Amino acid sequence: MIHLRADIAAMKGYVPGFQPPDEQAFIKLNTNENPYPPSPRVLTAILAELGQDGSSLRKYPSASSQKLRETVGELYGFDPSWVIMANGSDEVLNNLIRAFAAEGEEIGYVHPSYSYYATLAEIQGAQVRTFRLTDDFRIADFPSLYEGKLFFLTTPNSPLGFSFPLEYITELAGRCGGMLVVDEAYADFSGTDALELVRSRENVVVTRTLSKSYSLAGMRLGFAIARPEVVAALDKIRDHYNLDRLAQAACVAALSDQDYFRECTRKICATREWFTSEIAKLGYEVVPSSGNFLFVSPPDRDGQRVYEGLFTRKILVRHFTDPLLKHGLRISIGTQEEMERTLAALQEIT
Ligand code: PMP
Repeated sequence: MIHLRADIAAMKGYVPGFQPPDEQAFIKLNTNENPYPPSPRVLTAILAELGQDGSSLRKYPSASSQKLRETVGELYGFDPSWVIMANGSDEVLNNLIRAFAAEGEEIGYVHPSYSYYATLAEIQGAQVRTFRLTDDFRIADFPSLYEGKLFFLTTPNSPLGFSFPLEYITELAGRCGGMLVVDEAYADFSGTDALELVRSRENVVVTRTLSKSYSLAGMRLGFAIARPEVVAALDKIRDHYNLDRLAQAACVAALSDQDYFRECTRKICATREWFTSEIAKLGYEVVPSSGNFLFVSPPDRDGQRVYEGLFTRKILVRHFTDPLLKHGLRISIGTQEEMERTLAALQEIT
């Protein structure tokens, strides 16, 4: 007999976006990946790390990822003691829950946003409370003092794409009795961020990823910026060798090439603006986006129908069966050419 924990046996588990086995056959716009390759410096750094015969892989990587903390700290103006590196930002989200919410304690987040917070909380045995959005994208019924141990604010929001203004995030920080985790996975496409709140408020943590804006989803690289006490707690919890050698080399190389990064994000934002106005001409409703994706609803509000139409044309986007989202689709921004082909396909479907 296998005696699993009852709650683990009962839980569904998170279902990530579909990764088709024949990736090349699709225009893949379903998981907010970057359509451009990472900086050429990344490949050079990975090859240098591997050396002639890959013999560096015999040895464990740096356990602290210190060089990466220094690089991130320098980029954003923080002492390295305020930075923790993670195997994708998912890892640091998980460890924040483990650090702050004991079994039975509550975490909160906005629905719709990133439902993985709920899965992580479930594994921890923490309670989950979700908050709806108002029509003007504020949080409905947020208490004057929220007593949950953590509140996750995804900004820009995924899947909807809008951002919360900094004044509003500041106000929320004041209304959170526990920690406010600002999940900025898409902030590099938005032009704003909440990093100053990490300095000015004791209870704010910002999480980031290199999966989207640095084209490194396949390397699993993320980080958090937080007070040193929080970083120290997260350091106790994480796997001690959480970033492998190649990921560490790739991270420093990618972050050091800011010109390349800026050019890539500029192109994606330009294509996003173009696609926003073109798809609106087809009668789609579009949420103004500050991420690398758009949430769009066709005139008949049948997201599934358009998803299938695109799928048969080998274009993969994201459709959510959630009642709040099923009328629309989330479409990641690809290259200009990919988006032109997507638009042509939508013209046929509509
Ligand atoms: N936060 C949000 C809002 C996301 O959409 C994602 C990507 N699915 C993540 C965090 C996790 O990103 P990663 O683990 O690739 O850094």
